[in-house]
Amino acid sequence: MTQGEKLYEGKAKILYATEDPQLVIQYFKDDATAFNAQKRGTILGKGAVNNQISSALFQMLEQQGIPTHFVRKLSEREMLVKRLTIVPLEVTIRNIVAGGMAKLLGLEEGIILKRPVFEWHYKSDALGDPLINDDHILALGVATTEELEFIRTQSHQINGILKAYFAQRQIDLVDFKLEFGRFGNRILLADEISPDTCRFWEQGTKKKLDKDRFRRDLGDVEAAYQEMLNRISPSRSG
Ligand code: 5GP
Repeated sequence: MTQGEKLYEGKAKILYATEDPQLVIQYFKDDATAFNAQKRGTILGKGAVNNQISSALFQMLEQQGIPTHFVRKLSEREMLVKRLTIVPLEVTIRNIVAGGMAKLLGLEEGIILKRPVFEWHYKSDALGDPLINDDHILALGVATTEELEFIRTQSHQINGILKAYFAQRQIDLVDFKLEFGRFGNRILLADEISPDTCRFWEQGTKKKLDKDRFRRDLGDVEAAYQEMLNRISPSRSG
C-alpha cells in the first residue's frame, strides 16, 4: 500500500490517499494540543504509541463484533483504514466524573456515576465541540434517527467491552470520546482510541495515565503513554 496525496491534516493525525479509493492511511503525529488548540506541544513517541494502542483496541473490538474502520497496522506510525465520511459528532461516554462534566455541573472529579453518561458534541473546532442533544442533530439534519440509535447502542457496547478490558489491566476507564463515519450504507467506528481520547486512572493510586498529564502539566507524559501501551500489549512494547 503506497502513500499518495495528503487528504487532510488534523491536530494529531494526517490522512493520505492510497491506490485504493476505498482505503486511506492514518498517520499518527507526536503533536499534542489541548483546550481547543490554545495549548500546543509535542509528546515524544506519542504517534507510535497511539498507533499501537489504537490498532490493538480496534482489533479487539472487531473480534467482539464492533464494526470499525481499521484494516491493519502498516508501520510504526501508519494505520490502514477504510475511507469514511465522518459524521460531524463526537460521542463522549463517562463512567466517572472528570473534565468537562465536572466543569459543566460544578462537581468533584472522581464521583462514580450510577450509570454511564452519554453525550453528543457537535464536531467544530471554531465552537469548541459544544454539547448538543438529539433534537439539535435531527432538526439540523446532521444525522438520521436510525444513525443516532445505532451510534448510541454501539457506543454503550464499546464502553462495556473497554471497561472490562481495562479493569483486567487494573485501569479505570473514566471517560472517552468516539467518532463514527459512513461507509456505503454502514456506520463504522472511526478515528482512534488512545490516551489522547480516553481518561485512564490506575486502580488504587488513581494516577492519571492519559492526556490530562499534558493538559494539566503533571509531568511524566511520555511515561504514562508508554505505561498504557505496556498494559495493553506487554510482549510488544518492552
Ligand atoms: P471532556 O469533555 O471531559 O473534556 O472529555 C471527555 C473525554 O473525551 C476525555 O477522555 C477526552 O480525552 C475525550 N475528548 C473529548 N473531546 C475531545 C477532543 O476534541 N479531542 C480529544 N483528543 N479527546 C477528546
